[in-house]
Amino acid sequence: MSGKIVVVGSCMIDFVSYAPRLPRAGETIHGHKFVTNFGGKGANQCVAAAKLGAQTSLIARVGDDVWGPKYIANLESLQVNTQYVKTTENSSSGIAQINVADNGMNQIIIVAGANQRLNLKDIEDAESIISSADVLVLQLETPVETAIRALQLAKGVSILNGAPAIETFNEELLRLPSIFCVNESEASIFSGLPVNNPNEAETAAKELIAKGCQSVLITLGEDGAIFLTSDPNVPVFKADAPQVKSADTTGAGDAFIGALAFCLANLKEFSIQQAIKAACIVAADSVTRLGTQISFPGEEILIRIV
Ligand code: ATP
Repeated sequence: MSGKIVVVGSCMIDFVSYAPRLPRAGETIHGHKFVTNFGGKGANQCVAAAKLGAQTSLIARVGDDVWGPKYIANLESLQVNTQYVKTTENSSSGIAQINVADNGMNQIIIVAGANQRLNLKDIEDAESIISSADVLVLQLETPVETAIRALQLAKGVSILNGAPAIETFNEELLRLPSIFCVNESEASIFSGLPVNNPNEAETAAKELIAKGCQSVLITLGEDGAIFLTSDPNVPVFKADAPQVKSADTTGAGDAFIGALAFCLANLKEFSIQQAIKAACIVAADSVTRLGTQISFPGEEILIRIV
């Protein structure tokens, strides 16, 4: 696979405790299981593309704690280029502390740590790989000014995943990326419109085009995704999600974006619509397994998408 994918974004460690119920304020209770997962939207999307066989590089920051080197080793074991993953002095790695009750309710505290220290110099240091990327992928878990600067340097296709959504933003955030990709709740925040079903998503996509997006891709969970471009001659495209037995939808959006980037970088004969259909197949497959990065499929799934 010769297409180059560069991802600018976050690395987080998920500490997940499972307990019969959630603790009340000030209370200590016993849980029955604990797992540690590598997460963060940036790294997840990069790993999703790498597991499909893409050439990937991540521009990110980890802390100078015990988790930083472990995270870098995880990325390297998945063949991600970590030359631009910097270790940050006097900072923890990004951490998500997650409590899950037996009834599925959860509590989450996120400490962004080193992710907040990604800065404009980090982007300038990586200018050559950003500008030579076939596909550049960004999200909003790291400082927004780094995303904007990277988008300004991009010469290939750029995908901005507007997650987590922000209410106040520079309009360049909508105008610069080739594809602005969000889920329904993010689409609602960025467009200012309710988005509870595919019809409302289409209305929100039109509003986002009116606000300056080149193209808008809204993921709709088990309803698939819709895509709209600013070209009035191209009709709205709707991709259905394959029906699967869902085990864990965590990270489905990241699997979707990683797969989309993989297709756009490597399957040059694919139209954007074919790439979106393929991303739905990869994301649906990921929801049949528990976990985030470990649930993303490998190259064996390519036979179902090419
Ligand atoms: P998450 O935050 O859980 O990572 P998200 O909210 O960013 O996900 P979704 O719109 O829920 O994103 O899902 C992304 C894509 O994953 C969908 O467009 C769809 O292709 C696929 N997907 C999600 N849930 C299902 C499901 N239950 N069955 C099949 N495909 C699914």
